[in-house]
Amino acid sequence: MNFAHIQSLKELLNRPQRIVLVPHKNPDGDAIGSTLALWHLFRELRQEVTLISPNDFPEFLKWMPGSQEIVIFEKQREEALKRIDEAALVFTLDFNALDRCGLMQEPLQHASADFVMIDHHQSPGNYAKFTYSNPQMSSTCEMVYHFIRALGEEPRINTSIATCLYAGILTDTGSFKFDSTTPTTLRVAAALMEIGAPHSLIHREIYDTNRPERLQLLGCALQNLVILKAYRTAYITLSQEELNRHDFRKGDTEGFVNYGLSLKDVVLAAIFIENRDEGIIKISLRSQGAFSVNEMARSHFEGGGHTNAAGGRSQESLEATVRRFESVLAAYKDQLAV
Ligand code: 5GP
Ligand code: MN
Repeated sequence: MNFAHIQSLKELLNRPQRIVLVPHKNPDGDAIGSTLALWHLFRELRQEVTLISPNDFPEFLKWMPGSQEIVIFEKQREEALKRIDEAALVFTLDFNALDRCGLMQEPLQHASADFVMIDHHQSPGNYAKFTYSNPQMSSTCEMVYHFIRALGEEPRINTSIATCLYAGILTDTGSFKFDSTTPTTLRVAAALMEIGAPHSLIHREIYDTNRPERLQLLGCALQNLVILKAYRTAYITLSQEELNRHDFRKGDTEGFVNYGLSLKDVVLAAIFIENRDEGIIKISLRSQGAFSVNEMARSHFEGGGHTNAAGGRSQESLEATVRRFESVLAAYKDQLAV
């Protein structure tokens, strides 16, 4: 986003506007954190703002300030459609193409509003009038911090905004350990801490609020771990039956895929999770180093993401999907084989 864009947005925000904020479907900490942070800011700026999530979000994010005000498209369709229809501005955060919004894709495509994209995924689409895209950034939350500063609204970053932004940076950087964490990321986190983000509490709310069933589901996932030494790959499967047996709730499998990557010498990790309601297998891919799971997800699993973290889906059965994954690995032999 250049200076002229920032100036135009500043002028637009000088007058009350109807604004809608949208995270991607199955929103994570970065998507909810970045949209909620802007929701708080725009309320401070006396805008008429609504945050609409395509579907529900995990329990471990429901402590976030303002989260109870989020409109869920799948549950509150009429209200959501009305807000989209009336909006002059739609901010989309933490995704790069409208097909990441599930059932909201269509109403958004027909909206008369001007779109603003703030996102750190590669290959941004061109649906927005104002695009702020930077794949080098650790998180959309870090970008929102820079965006608020560019608007000249830094003094309005209160404890609620700082908390939401800190939470998204924390989750998207794997607690500041991924390569995407830069000195600037840490400076932003420090600034948010100074403003009053309760860092230790945030960490506990996100990571230390397990139900016993979730830990047992993790045990099941780890029992299912398969290691393909020749391809430096490890994968996990979870069938719908296994999920049901452990009282699965949204968000319970968050982070499971990383256990595969914690194995010495493994550079590619995957998890395949059956979702009978949607008739798909949800796939998460993680890598270490140069191997691009973004490319693999785009080419073979109708998905995308970042170089080291991506996701996708398959319409086949769990077994057929895993078989296909194993055969796809052969195409990457040069990069994966020892
Ligand atoms: P996760 O595996 O945690 O669902 O997602 C990892 C990364 O891949 C996130 O940045 C997420 O936005 C992206 N991602 C996950 N699923 C999809 C998908 O179906 N399509 C695309 N384009 N990106 C995805
Ligand atoms: Mn993100």
